[in-house]
Amino acid sequence: MRILILGPQGSGKGTQAKLVASSLGIPHVATGDMLRAAVANGSELGRRVQPILERGDLVPDELMVELIRARLVDEDGFVLDGFPRTVPQAEALDAMLDEIAKPLDVVLLLEVSDEVSLERLLGRRADEGRSDDAPDAIENRLRLYHELTEPVVERYRAKGTLAPVDGEQPVDDVAREIEDALGRVGAPQA
Ligand code: AMP
Repeated sequence: MRILILGPQGSGKGTQAKLVASSLGIPHVATGDMLRAAVANGSELGRRVQPILERGDLVPDELMVELIRARLVDEDGFVLDGFPRTVPQAEALDAMLDEIAKPLDVVLLLEVSDEVSLERLLGRRADEGRSDDAPDAIENRLRLYHELTEPVVERYRAKGTLAPVDGEQPVDDVAREIEDALGRVGAPQA
């Protein structure tokens, strides 16, 4: 199964993506994790993206598309988390998957209000100390989500592949709704 999970920062995307990936036995491909690993390794990519991540800005589309192409090329199934964040990224992803006749099966959307996102991100900052969970960077990331990523949501809604889920519920309830949504598109039962 090829699953994309969308939602604002703090929507619980990472948590739910991990649960789905482990219950279906497919990789969780999270671009934020890939970039943070590059920063931690001190690789050339890491040095290039570190200031961008710290400001809560977006890494250039070309760089992200190449990164994801290399990561997905040999995968039949995956849960993609954090990409695409812009319409050009979505167009590149769809073209890439169409080329190999492996389109997305479903696009899950975790819906949460800005108030809930903010509250959760500030909580995460206290727990995990992520430098981009500082108030200025959070505000920037949410603004970019509305401006650049919401059009991606609308793209998949228009295509009919979008499955919206109420992300403000407790984790287990969100997971159950996702399981139901995956069942409707023919995923093996977890
Ligand atoms: P995340 O963990 O998904 O919130 O990503 C952390 C940071 O990595 C983001 O704030 C961006 O700076 C960068 N990033 C992750 N995915 C992308 C992407 N698809 N396009 C551009 N920047 C990204």
